[in-house]
Amino acid sequence: MFFKDIPGLEETKKILIASVKNNHIAHGQLFFGSEGSAALPLALAYATFINCENQQAEDACGVCAACVKNQKYIFPDLHFIFPTSSTKAKTKDISSNTFLKEWRTFLTETPYSNLSEWGAFFGGENKQLSISVDESRNIVKNLTLKAIEGAYKIMVLWLPEMMNAAAANALLKILEEPPGKTVFLLVTQDPGKIITTILSRTQMVKIRDFTDSEVATYLEKKKDITEKRAKQIAYLADGKMNEAFRLVDEAEEDNQEMFREWMRLCYKKDYTSLVNWSDSFQKMGREAEKTFFQYGLSVLRESLVFQSTGDALLRLEETEKTFIENFSKVLNTEKIEKISTFLNEAYYHIERNANSKIVFLDMSLSVAASLR
Ligand SMILES: [Zn+2]
Repeated sequence: MFFKDIPGLEETKKILIASVKNNHIAHGQLFFGSEGSAALPLALAYATFINCENQQAEDACGVCAACVKNQKYIFPDLHFIFPTSSTKAKTKDISSNTFLKEWRTFLTETPYSNLSEWGAFFGGENKQLSISVDESRNIVKNLTLKAIEGAYKIMVLWLPEMMNAAAANALLKILEEPPGKTVFLLVTQDPGKIITTILSRTQMVKIRDFTDSEVATYLEKKKDITEKRAKQIAYLADGKMNEAFRLVDEAEEDNQEMFREWMRLCYKKDYTSLVNWSDSFQKMGREAEKTFFQYGLSVLRESLVFQSTGDALLRLEETEKTFIENFSKVLNTEKIEKISTFLNEAYYHIERNANSKIVFLDMSLSVAASLR
């Protein structure tokens, strides 16, 4: 991972690069960003930059021996600790090393993913993931040895909030008396769950969420979709890059048009059409159905904001703005909140594998009844 691979966040990249140039690399750093943010990719790019043999002004060189190995996550002085569990194939002596091969592929292919996506990736999805007690030995073993190739030994620890007490204590010991030229990059989504003795020994690097335009630009480049579609998805993903990727892959329908048409049918109480709709709704598949509900909920949320402030539609494009403005004229706050509740309930049932035809029809009837 290089800084140039990560969209936006120039302000954070500058601070990280300056810390290396000024020789102020704190030995314990806590990268804190919400799910789908650049917290893990930035820690990886930072690790690459620190050990690059020919650091450039804004990024690692990309061609030196260290960069080439760091890009594949096989640099001998870059170590990883992350949550794992047993799988069908592997049941004994489970630690990060057991899944190192899967982890490298995961970082290469989907570095913005969350914990459950990682679980699904290596085959531990139905198990409780954690950072096991055995990891404490790995931490001590890997970091008390001399660096093999790099100037710095770096350990990236993903989701320290999932460490058990023994692993946390081993880490704490090393943070208290760090061996020379050792850097710990802890990447967390929830610092509130990390013990305070560890927090007090790390320097916090707060990573903001991506903006809509950072997500949209990145999607256009990576996923080869139109600007309009990229913007629509960025808006729905709400700063979460993993969510944006999921939406591109799974949402085929044009939700904007579909939602508008569906609301019109509910408003007209056109029951025959709504029954037909529930048939085609079922054929969309569960992920697309969920995306439709998410879209509907976001429109309702914007409508509420619009009603209370009058001018909060800056994130939307023209056609959508017009729709929400008209929508807000027809419905009062109470009705919008009611419809949101129905959509939320429907989403809940779809997520738990209820029959989507019945859920959709039931929701449509409730919405139609509440509209007049
Ligand atoms: Zn380099």
